[in-house]
Amino acid sequence: MKLIQTIPELKALRARWRAAGERVALVPTMGNLHAGHLSLVEQVQTGADRTVVSIFVNPLQFAPGEDFDRYPRTLADDLAKLDPLAPDVVFAPSVDEIYPQGYPIATNVVVNGLVERFCGEFRAGHFVGAATVVTILLNLVQPEQAIFGEKDYQQLLVFRRMARDLHLPVEILSGPTVREANGLAMSSRNRYLSDEERASAAVLRQQLVATGRALRAGHRDFAALEQAARVQLRAAGFAPQYFNILSPELEPATSQHSDFVVLAAAVLGAARLIDNIRLDDPALAA
Ligand code: AMP
Repeated sequence: MKLIQTIPELKALRARWRAAGERVALVPTMGNLHAGHLSLVEQVQTGADRTVVSIFVNPLQFAPGEDFDRYPRTLADDLAKLDPLAPDVVFAPSVDEIYPQGYPIATNVVVNGLVERFCGEFRAGHFVGAATVVTILLNLVQPEQAIFGEKDYQQLLVFRRMARDLHLPVEILSGPTVREANGLAMSSRNRYLSDEERASAAVLRQQLVATGRALRAGHRDFAALEQAARVQLRAAGFAPQYFNILSPELEPATSQHSDFVVLAAAVLGAARLIDNIRLDDPALAA
C-alpha cells in the first residue's frame, strides 16, 4: 500500500499499470474511514488488478456554513484501517494539489434535474461540487471501475447519470449500506452524535423499514405513509428535512410504479443524517 499525495506521482504509476494492461478500480472517499468504506474497497478488489482509495475532503461540496472546517481528517487512522486490505494506492492530495488556481473553479459538472432536489435543496452546491471533484478524480486515476455507497442514493444516481451523459470510460458500481448494530447507517458524521442521540438515531432506519414494509404489503397512500414517518421522527427528536417515497429514478411515486425507494434526511442534534431503503432490503423479507 503506497501513499501518494501528488498528481505527477499518481500519473507515473497509472502509466505503468496501463503499460502492463492492468485494470484499475477507484474508491473515492473523504476519509475518516469506517466499515462502510472498507466494504467498498473489498468489493472492488475482487474484480480489479489494482485498487486506488482516494481520501480528499473536497471544499467544493460543502455548502456555506456546513462542516468543512471541522470535518474529521484522520489520515494516520485511515491508513491503519486500510493496511489489512492492502489497496495498491491511497491517493490523499492536498486542496492545493487538486485546485492549484484556488477554488471555486470555473468549470462545474451539473446534472440538471437531479442536483436541485432532495439533498440538493438543503445543501446548496453540494452535488455540483461532488460531481466536479469525482470527474477530476476519474480523470486523474482513469479507473475502469469506480464504486460508491448506496447509502448516498441520490449521489449514486448523480454519478451514474454524469458517467452516462458524458460517456466517461468508467463503470459505476455500488455497494450496500453498512450499519451499526442498531440499524444506524455508518457515517463519518455520526461522530457528531451524543451517546443518547446515537440510540435515538436508530429511529430513522426503523421508519424506513416500517414504510418499506407497508409498501411491500400493498399500501399506496404515499402521503399518509410519509406523514406518519415524519411524525415519528419528530417524536424521536429529529428535525426531518424530507421523507419521500419515490420511484427508483427519484420521480414522484405513483400507483403505476411497482418498485420504490424511500429517501430520507433529518437533523438530529449536530448531525445531519441521510438514509434510504429499497424494497429488496433483506430487513423487509420477514
Ligand atoms: P464519504 O467519505 O462520506 O464521502 O463516503 C465515501 C463513499 O463511501 C461514498 O461512496 C459513500 O456512499 C460510501 N459510504 C458512506 N457510508 C457508507 C456506509 N455506511 N455503507 C456503505 N458505503 C458507505
